Amino acid sequence: MKTHLVRQKNIAEKISPEVAISNWKDWKWQIKHCVKDIDTFETLLDIEFEPEERKLLEETLQKFPLSITPYYLSLIEAEDLKNDPIFMQAFPSPKELLVAEDEMNDPLSEDEDSPVPGITHRYPDRVLFHVSNICSMYCRHCTRKRKVGDVDSVPDKAEVQKGLDYIAAHPEVRDVLLSGGDPFMLSDDYLDWVLTELRLIPHVEVIRIGTRMPVVLPYRVTDQLVEVLKRHHPVWVNTHFNHPREVTSSSREALRKMADAGIPLGNQTVLLSGVNDCYRIMKRLFHKLVENRVRPYYLYQCDLSEGLTHFRTSVGKGIEIMENLVGHTSGFAVPTYVIDAPEGGGKIPILPTYMISRSTHKVILRNYEGVITSYKEPDAYMPVYCDRKCEGCKLQLKLDDAPEYKSVGIAKLLSDYDETLSLVPGETARVERRDLAR
Ligand SMILES: *Cc1c(COP(=O)(O)O)cnc(C)c1O
Repeated sequence: MKTHLVRQKNIAEKISPEVAISNWKDWKWQIKHCVKDIDTFETLLDIEFEPEERKLLEETLQKFPLSITPYYLSLIEAEDLKNDPIFMQAFPSPKELLVAEDEMNDPLSEDEDSPVPGITHRYPDRVLFHVSNICSMYCRHCTRKRKVGDVDSVPDKAEVQKGLDYIAAHPEVRDVLLSGGDPFMLSDDYLDWVLTELRLIPHVEVIRIGTRMPVVLPYRVTDQLVEVLKRHHPVWVNTHFNHPREVTSSSREALRKMADAGIPLGNQTVLLSGVNDCYRIMKRLFHKLVENRVRPYYLYQCDLSEGLTHFRTSVGKGIEIMENLVGHTSGFAVPTYVIDAPEGGGKIPILPTYMISRSTHKVILRNYEGVITSYKEPDAYMPVYCDRKCEGCKLQLKLDDAPEYKSVGIAKLLSDYDETLSLVPGETARVERRDLAR
């Protein structure tokens, strides 16, 4: 079996014999030489598809285009191509053309929950801000598959400005999540501009960036980029490793640079059939991540996007994986398993059942070993009733002059200050915003 470095060298030499490996770590060179057609893919990997299969693959590319960075391509082990987790995430399958019932073009209603182009405002205090609609690698399991390769939707500065204006006009937004596409596809200067503008908005406390660059093109994380990010702290970065084989010396280096710059790192994994639907793979991946100072953040159930049927697992598989993590390994190596609900319901956490019964004064729990245990609640707990008037409260948080936003959902039903007895569907803030936008 060829080692990763040997594969890198072969691929680099085939792409441009005259400069070969010296350009390999130049991220712009990598982007320029992204593999976008089947011929090049075959040449670089020394393989050949059957004519019948090729025809189907070409058809698939008509609908969902292909792009793989030479770096990510070099992680593919061609000896067992069809079962290779890197290949499966990067190379089209004709199965993408099969649209199952219940699958949707925009399953998360990101476009509907968008008050201005580029902004998805779903939760009370934070927004998703699409600042780039381009990626270096097109993940086959992309939840925004509808937009992949859609060059027309790359937002220009004027459009991004509208998003910035929206955030500035909404003091409740304290957390801005830059997404895309991949925000690291933007130049350092452009990213610096977006971050500078965001930092001028006083109520923006935290900026987050979602990027797959540390996985598919780790050379993008240059010293210069990290210098830019550092200037706008607190900046958090969330990346997207799905398989332990993606943790290479190059990706480690990218993670190290960001962690050393004081950027808290998180990871979002998507549970994918045939790629990582195995608790041992997941555990190995999460261990490698924490070793590199990356906190596993979310484990996603695969979305109901069109063309992803072959990637979807049962929810039971996700619960089985969680069962094999909680208690069995470090708490900070265990992500939150979520289903992103269709039609904009947002992320819903799913756990195995740990509280198995309760009485008025006891809860019965079971642990990861199957031990069934009880926790006796205090006899004389003095509840703190909250009327939201802090002056009469003995707890030391005086919030009276802070901006308040409406309590929503179950929290509203639980609250002491709100008279609401039941929730009536259709009354959520996000639906109101939708109506306003119409
Ligand atoms: C995931 C997501 C967020 C961020 O959610 P967190 O749980 O805070 O990480 C914000 N907005 C949208 C639309 C999202 O999908």
